[in-house]
Amino acid sequence: MIINGKEISEKRLAVLKDEISKSGLSPCLATIIVGEDPASQMYVRMKHKACGEVGIKSAGITLSSDLKTEEIISEVSKLNSDPSVHGILVQLPLPKHVDTRAVITAVSPDKDVDGFHPYNSGLLFSGRPDFVPCTPGGIMTLLKEYKIKTAGKKAVVAGRSVDVGRPMAALLLNADATVTICHSKTSNLEEEMKSADILVSAIGKAKFVGPDMVKKGAVVIDVGINRDENGKLCGDVDFEAVRDKVYAITPVPGGVGPMTIATLMENTFTSAKKHAEL
Ligand code: NAD
Repeated sequence: MIINGKEISEKRLAVLKDEISKSGLSPCLATIIVGEDPASQMYVRMKHKACGEVGIKSAGITLSSDLKTEEIISEVSKLNSDPSVHGILVQLPLPKHVDTRAVITAVSPDKDVDGFHPYNSGLLFSGRPDFVPCTPGGIMTLLKEYKIKTAGKKAVVAGRSVDVGRPMAALLLNADATVTICHSKTSNLEEEMKSADILVSAIGKAKFVGPDMVKKGAVVIDVGINRDENGKLCGDVDFEAVRDKVYAITPVPGGVGPMTIATLMENTFTSAKKHAEL
């Protein structure tokens, strides 16, 4: 089974658009981009486009790459205190001289639609999540939409980043899976991966996961966005070599990626609703 993230995200965005229009609310997402990294610019453009499609206002702030950490934090603070803004997204990566952790921590947790603030990470890891990072949140939605059970399953997450691997593991644990996190220093990676009923790969290495690394009948979720030897977009998983061995697999593109944006939209509307209740 091919897990069609594009289709599910379109379905959810259509529902969201309807909910937003019926709510009478004016949700607004503000994005901050520092510098002129083309990939970051493309991701932010995609997020603004999605906002426009569902009826979320969006405001884009582009800052010069030579700004100091405190100057970026000052822009974040303005958005924190602007009542018309419900979600704040700081596009990563920030330039090397910037203290990324300090900037992320400056975002008000109640507008942290990316779910990266340590307060929201803490809630997630204590089993009572509020804003959840969009990529792992979108993956949980995919699993639910495809009625893939997690309780009692052995889940292996490859990658331990703050934006994907760690929150993914926490979400799967909260959903009663037995979770192992692997990373670049894991000594028995292949063995661990092969034991997984649900394998999530968030490593960032083109076609790294071959058929020998997956269990027959497993569910494989490919988070990676890479280029293969011909410059073509591909995931961490060697899709063609693995697809016939597994029960379900996400393609790249068209799998996890669209769900990340859909979840960002959902988080922004959730935030607008919460602010309306305050
Ligand atoms: P990252 O570089 O922060 O983390 C990569 C992780 O992989 C690290 O924890 C590292 O320990 C682990 N790793 C590296 N080499 C390994 C190896 N040989 N064996 C086992 N583990 C290894 O990256 P990230 O931000 O977590 O993103 C991972 C991938 O997912 C990238 O390709 C990125 O582009 C993609 N991504 C996709 C989406 C999406 O919406 N689809 C969102 C975020 C990231």
